[in-house]
Amino acid sequence: MASADEAPLIVLEGVNKWFGSLHVLRDVDLSISRGEVIVVIGPSGSGKSTLCRAINRLETIDKGRIVFDGQPLPAEGRALARLRSDVGMVFQSFNLFAHKTIVQNVSLGPVKVRGESPAAAREHAMALLDRVGIADQAAKYPAQLSGGQQQRAAIARALAMRPKAMLFDEPTSALDPEMVGEVLEVMTSLAGEGMTMVVVTHEMGFARHAAHRVVFMADGQLVEQAPPTEFFANPRSDRAKDFLSKIL
Ligand code: ADP
Ligand code: MG
Repeated sequence: MASADEAPLIVLEGVNKWFGSLHVLRDVDLSISRGEVIVVIGPSGSGKSTLCRAINRLETIDKGRIVFDGQPLPAEGRALARLRSDVGMVFQSFNLFAHKTIVQNVSLGPVKVRGESPAAAREHAMALLDRVGIADQAAKYPAQLSGGQQQRAAIARALAMRPKAMLFDEPTSALDPEMVGEVLEVMTSLAGEGMTMVVVTHEMGFARHAAHRVVFMADGQLVEQAPPTEFFANPRSDRAKDFLSKIL
C-alpha cells in the first residue's frame, strides 16, 4: 500500500473554468508529486495564471476537483487560510507591503495567521532573508530595494509560512535582465532542497535545469507534458513546436 508520502501532493481532475463565455481551463488533469518541480509554459492567455490561482483558490473552478495534501480545497474560513499558508505564491509584481520593512513583511503572516510569537517569527524571518541573500536589507522598506531583492523578499515571505508547495507565476518577468539570475538562483536552490513547485516562466534555462516535468498549455488545455530533455529535444504537438520556435 502506498504511504501518505507517496500520494501526490496536488491533484487536479477534470478541472474546468469559465470567465463568462470564455472557457479558460478545459478538462485539466494534473497530478503533482511531493518534491516535484513543474514548469508550466505556453502562449499568453492560455490559462497558466488561472491554473496557479485555482490551486490556492484565488479563483474558484466551475467543474472538476482539486485535492491538496489529501483534502479537497476548502471554500472558506480557517481551512482556506491554512491552505493559503500551505501553498505559497509568488507573483510577477512583488506585492510587498510598502509601509512595512522587509523583515516585517516576512514576519507578519506567521504572527497573524500561524500564531507564532513576534520574536520567533522575526528570528525565522532573518534566517530566511539570509537564505535568499538579503539579510542586510532587513530594516529597509521595499521601495529602497532593487526589483530582484524585492522578489527575493517576496519568496522569503511565502517561505515564512512553512508552505508545503510554492507557486511562482512569472516571477522574473517584471525584472530588469541583470536581476533575473539572482531570483532564479534562489528558486533553483529551493527546488534542490525538495520543495514542491509549480513555476510559470519563460526562462527555459530554469526549465531545463530545475524542472522534473515541463507542462505545455494552450487554449486552456494541457497539450503535452514531458521531462525537459525530452520536451525540448522532441516536442510532439505542432502547438508546442510553434511556441518553442518563437521563444528559443
Ligand atoms: P496566462 O497566464 O496563460 O496568460 P490567464 O490565466 O491569465 O492566461 O488568462 C486566461 C484567459 O482568461 C485569458 O483570455 C484572460 O484574458 C482571461 N481572464 C483571466 N482572468 C480573467 C478575469 N478575471 N475575468 C475575465 N477573463 C479573465
Ligand atoms: Mg499569466
